[in-house]
Amino acid sequence: MKHQYEAIIVGAGGAGLYAALEASKTAKTAVLSKLHPVRSHTGAAQGGIGAALGNLEEDKPEWHFFDTIKGGDYLSDQKAAQILVEEAVNAVYHLENLGLPFSRTKDGKIDQRRFGGHTRNFGEAPVRRACYAADRTGHMILQTLYQQCIKNNVAFFDEYFVLDTLIDGNKCNGVIAIELSTGEIHIFQSKAVLFATGGFGRIFKTTSNAYANTGDGPALLARAGVPMEDMEFYQFHPTGIYGMGILITEGVRGEGGILRNRYGERFMEKYAPTLLDLAPRDMISRAIIDEISQGNGIRGDKKIDDYVFLDATHIGKDIINKRLPDIAGFCRTYLGIDPAEKPIPVQPTAHYAMGGIPTDLRGRVIRNECGDVYEGLYAAGECACISVHGANRLGTNSLVDLVVYGRRAGTDIACFVKKADFGSIPASPDDAARKKVNSLITGRKSKSRGAITSRMQDVMMEKVGVFRTAKEMKEAVEVMRGLKDEFKEVGIKDTGKSFNTELVEALELENLLDIAYLTAVAAENRTETRGAHSRTDFPARDDANWLKHSLIWLDREQFGIKYREADVSLYKPKPRVY
Ligand SMILES: Cc1cc2nc3c(=O)[nH]c(=O)nc-3n(C[C@H](O)[C@H](O)[C@H](O)COP(=O)(O)OP(=O)(O)OC[C@H]3O[C@@H](n4cnc5c(N)ncnc54)[C@H](O)[C@@H]3O)c2cc1C
Repeated sequence: MKHQYEAIIVGAGGAGLYAALEASKTAKTAVLSKLHPVRSHTGAAQGGIGAALGNLEEDKPEWHFFDTIKGGDYLSDQKAAQILVEEAVNAVYHLENLGLPFSRTKDGKIDQRRFGGHTRNFGEAPVRRACYAADRTGHMILQTLYQQCIKNNVAFFDEYFVLDTLIDGNKCNGVIAIELSTGEIHIFQSKAVLFATGGFGRIFKTTSNAYANTGDGPALLARAGVPMEDMEFYQFHPTGIYGMGILITEGVRGEGGILRNRYGERFMEKYAPTLLDLAPRDMISRAIIDEISQGNGIRGDKKIDDYVFLDATHIGKDIINKRLPDIAGFCRTYLGIDPAEKPIPVQPTAHYAMGGIPTDLRGRVIRNECGDVYEGLYAAGECACISVHGANRLGTNSLVDLVVYGRRAGTDIACFVKKADFGSIPASPDDAARKKVNSLITGRKSKSRGAITSRMQDVMMEKVGVFRTAKEMKEAVEVMRGLKDEFKEVGIKDTGKSFNTELVEALELENLLDIAYLTAVAAENRTETRGAHSRTDFPARDDANWLKHSLIWLDREQFGIKYREADVSLYKPKPRVY
């Protein structure tokens, strides 16, 4: 079946819905999502959205800007980050006006709490900057935006899995998707396509990310010749539930939670004497692994899978139940403990991709190191790299990114489609997608995808995790190359058309393998330590050689990796101490 819309948005998380809301003000807009929109992973975001409202104490966008740059270890593009923090304030009030039920102060203002790396007066002390709706901030954002999109007559194609893009030279003319309830392949012709397909934490074994976070957008585009930016920077959040990876929001530490080792010591005093447990995530994750390897983990056996405690017992039941109800629920359900009474066992968990599809300030996808853009191709949200987060994102800055840059991309699309024509598409644009699906279903191939998935996740976790070395990353690259070959022999047993989950998982695995491969290659290539990319063989930041973004091509690897200069026009790099 063939459809025609001026704007196609792939992904119904916060970024996709905000873009759709803006684009649909003037353009005929459709959203395609492999999940029902309100099941998108934005709904899992717990702690808050950062904006310098100054509702409880003095705060300024300028301080938020400085924290973002320093948090990103000076790799963020500074104009992009400045826009982020300045537009954050209006974006939060806009969400409030759209109906988002924020938690309130006694006098009715939006309440704010502390979060890692957010400070007053350029690093003096933690500041209350995270606006929140209990610990369900992302859920409320999704519900609010979805309702508004329905009101704006956005067309929703729920449970449509996008398989392919229609890129002709430098122009994008649409996408191909499979309708999961029927197995039917659909052609969507458009003037503009925006990818907002979220993160790819599932390349790692222990992750806070949902099963659906498989990097589909970046992988599809990488296979179509689009470069990926800064793939080496992947953030590990320090507080995943031990053995499961499920996230315990930084909001717990924002409310006063303390990390302790087996001796009950507040070990962050050694690593970040000013910000302590509210230092940025990359530092705390490294501190936890350091404590574990010194034998200070709770088991004390120095094994990498040991853990530490997040102690919230002094916060009090009332505050926990009021401000962190979901966290209390997770602890009861998954650990059988009440966090008001017992400390929570935690360890770092793969959480957020700083890298992804390169874009300019209007969300247009960049196609080379000179910054030239594709026509009619956009990206926003976690799958995009603008780059505002640099080498390490601060907590609460992803939700800001979704709304500020989702909105900017949507506005640009609305203007672009007014002047643009529909591009021509081939007679059978869905041939490649059909061939891929048929080959998986009827190819009579016997390799099991389960073994490939486990091997990829184990190797990425062990060799491209919190600490990295050349030797281990080289091994990971070789393993990923081998697994990509093995994938060619993967077959599935279910030949059904309706909700063929085996097929979906195979398609997702292909995407994960390409993304894992790009991540390992880019990580091995960057011979310095910066933000979340921490190399024991190159332990120092190297501004002389590496103040630049990497661009890696999947299909042009023989040409090597190319670079874009980082924009450090406003704050010059300084040592990063907290
Ligand atoms: C547990 C957790 C808590 C977090 N808490 C916070 C927080 O408090 N503050 C903060 O700032 N950040 C937080 N983050 C990060 C933040 O939530 C995410 O980065 C952000 O929500 C991603 O939004 P998105 O719109 O880019 O993608 P998502 O919300 O992940 O949406 C992706 C969309 O793409 C669709 N999609 C994907 N592939 C395809 C395909 N092939 N075909 C069709 N559709 C497709 C999906 O169906 C989905 O609709 C948290 C993350 C996690 C994991």
